[in-house]
Amino acid sequence: MTVLYKANMVRGAEWARLFAERAPNMPFRLWPDIGNPTEIRHLVAWVPPDDIATTFPNLELVFSVGAGVDQFDTTKVPAHIPLVRMLEPGIAETMVEYVTMAVLGLHRDLLDFISQQKQQVWREIRITPAKRRRVGVMGLGQLGQAVLERLKAFGFALSGWNRSPREIEGVTCYAGVDALPDFLAQADILVCLLPLTDQTRGILNADLFARLPRGAGLVNVGRGPHLVEADFLAALDSGALSGAVLDVADPEPLPAGHPFWSHPRILLTPHNASMTTPDTAVDFVLDVIARHRRGEELPGRVDRRRGY
Ligand code: NDP
Repeated sequence: MTVLYKANMVRGAEWARLFAERAPNMPFRLWPDIGNPTEIRHLVAWVPPDDIATTFPNLELVFSVGAGVDQFDTTKVPAHIPLVRMLEPGIAETMVEYVTMAVLGLHRDLLDFISQQKQQVWREIRITPAKRRRVGVMGLGQLGQAVLERLKAFGFALSGWNRSPREIEGVTCYAGVDALPDFLAQADILVCLLPLTDQTRGILNADLFARLPRGAGLVNVGRGPHLVEADFLAALDSGALSGAVLDVADPEPLPAGHPFWSHPRILLTPHNASMTTPDTAVDFVLDVIARHRRGEELPGRVDRRRGY
């Protein structure tokens, strides 16, 4: 029954308190204080320890503490042990806030006004009505869909692109690689909410930027390696892109002096678009453990062949 937590220690203390409250009969341990490893049945981790199969012979479930699992070496998790990513509502709520902020910031020329403020001068910029701004979201999973749902309120012209077809009311949906050029051609603001896989690594590259309407804005909240840095900087310099909001980078944090830190057309944040909220995450983990015991389907179960 024992749960082992190996991630951010400050939030770990909160997890421990919530487990004690909500599942007092379920022992909870904080890495590196693992106790008797044969008692560990459930592991909640950002990056799991290397040799989990031998260290924890009675492991039944492995949770990623985040919504993505690209930081996991899934080959190290024995095939019979389900790997579950965090599907707790706190992640979606905070992601929706961040992408709304980023899209509105680009829509309302925030980067220009930050520059103008620094120069102590105002130059008029005409406001574009939201209905004439086309916002396209790549990746129509739990987060992409939640973001689009909220963006509807502003009246943007919305579209989405996904591997398999989706139908979302009020959103023009495109599916598959063949439909990507048509999707890109009408995305004034492009939001990347894809998982990082062999298919999506480097997807934000020169070819993609060239297909966007000239002067498009980019929001990358997926993963740093989605973006090809040299292509991106060239697209900003040439005006193919007018600005970007980046929450993710490669590596994180970026080294001192990296051009993204000081680029006037880039707003950078430290991979905190969304964060797992212990309060709701503990409920999610307890629910999945209970479902697993009952032999039911597990929400958030990762398909290891797809990689997400
Ligand atoms: P989901 O797995 O719910 O959704 C992923 C979506 O992407 C699916 O709809 C999937 O389509 C689609 N997709 C996958 N591969 C491709 C591809 N090659 N081409 C087109 N579409 C593809 O994930 P979430 O929505 O929960 O999260 C998405 C990502 O957001 C995470 O993997 C993570 O990288 C990032 N993230 C970033 C955070 C941050 O703080 N910056 C926080 C949380 C997540 P299909 O279903 O058809 O396979």
